[in-house]
Amino acid sequence: MKLSEIRTTLQKIPVSPVKTLGQNFLHDQNLARWIVKQAEIIPDDYVVEIGPGLGALTKLTLEKGANVLAIEKDTRLANFLREHLSHPRLEVQNADALMFDPRVLFSQRRVKLLGNLPYNISSQLLLKFLEYPSPISLWMCMLQKEMARRLSALPSTRDYGSLTLRVQLHHRVQYLRTIPPTVFFPEPEVDSALVRILPRDPLDLPPRDDELLTKLIRSGFSQRRKQLRKLLGMRVINWDHAASILSFDPKTRAEKLSLLQWIGLANYIAPPAHPAALAMGNERFPVVDKNDRILGYAPRSDVHGNNLRHRAVHILIFDQAGEVYLQQRSRWKDRHSLKWDSSAAGHVAPRESYEETARRELDEELGINVPLEKLLKLPASASTEQEFVWLYRGEIRGNPIINRSEIETGAFFPPAIIDGWVSARPENFAPGFIECWKAYRGKKGANSDKLT
Ligand code: SAM
Repeated sequence: MKLSEIRTTLQKIPVSPVKTLGQNFLHDQNLARWIVKQAEIIPDDYVVEIGPGLGALTKLTLEKGANVLAIEKDTRLANFLREHLSHPRLEVQNADALMFDPRVLFSQRRVKLLGNLPYNISSQLLLKFLEYPSPISLWMCMLQKEMARRLSALPSTRDYGSLTLRVQLHHRVQYLRTIPPTVFFPEPEVDSALVRILPRDPLDLPPRDDELLTKLIRSGFSQRRKQLRKLLGMRVINWDHAASILSFDPKTRAEKLSLLQWIGLANYIAPPAHPAALAMGNERFPVVDKNDRILGYAPRSDVHGNNLRHRAVHILIFDQAGEVYLQQRSRWKDRHSLKWDSSAAGHVAPRESYEETARRELDEELGINVPLEKLLKLPASASTEQEFVWLYRGEIRGNPIINRSEIETGAFFPPAIIDGWVSARPENFAPGFIECWKAYRGKKGANSDKLT
């Protein structure tokens, strides 16, 4: 829309722009086209637009052939869009984007996020929609210039801080260009900037304990002018040694450390698991016949290499809200590394019952010991990779303590979100989990729990 059209439309609706909702509408159509181009939208993309306003970006996104979910907090603008931009590929939600659960987007195959964001809540919105694991593959956002600089900052600059590191840990941020106030009506009092954010390949950075890393970064930046030694020294046994092997000045401050050095510091305090800790090559498993009777024992490599029938367990751990803990398998696993899997799973060892294996795996992988309920048994087949599988369930309060040699990370998910994720993106999961989940949900369906 041109500036004159925006003025007339706002008068007609009627809406006088609300500052607390960041209502500054884009009237530069060349810029709107450029923004949509940078979002690399292709037909069948599922685009979530936060704050569509009068539809400056929405219309152009629809023209690219995408499906659009437009989340607009202002009811008058949401109604206007429904009336004037009605389209079979457009859904307008009159809602607060801060209340939206981005995990529902796992049920779409390819999701992009677009938004000329309301600046007063842009960091809350970004942190929510950037949380790892994220279903989104590209974020194209207009932000207040200062925020864009913080997200894309380099070490040793004024803008570099804990927000920079928190975002850059899982994403790459590209500062595309600065935008003057004159392209908006009404003109904001600040400059804006466009950023494009892409997910990082998890193997770009060394393995680490993200929780510890985040705590260190937060304390390190809590008093920017103070030396890190004073803020973090008590956590590090030999600060000078750590500084020398991580190549930083022992008197340094938080803003001088690169992301890799921060990870190095976290790993100096809590060394990450080494692949050798998995020692998978030496394991022997019972080999069974088609009726699950033991025939003998064979090394893991022979069992998998020759497709011999064997035994395994999967365990689903629920929290009190009924969400299921999924683990992302460690990067070091020889099979299905970095795929999402049951809360815990493993092979039955010689002279071990299924139930004993379930208890052992739960303890080894998640450090928990809770009563387990037997759910169902899957027969050995090509889809279970020749495993007979007993599936168990248990419940915990709080979070498990994950074994980092086995697990990259993990999180709780509502079952309905897992249903959508499994059907839209099966390649994200270890195949054994998909079989267990389908069998579990099939069984649960009979108890009308399907939508929990
Ligand atoms: N995209 C439009 C454009 O470029 O002209 C409007 C952008 S304007 C900067 C921000 C928009 O976000 C407004 O339409 C405002 O009503 C909407 N908004 C503000 N807070 C919101 C929230 N919490 N959830 C969803 N939309 C919100």
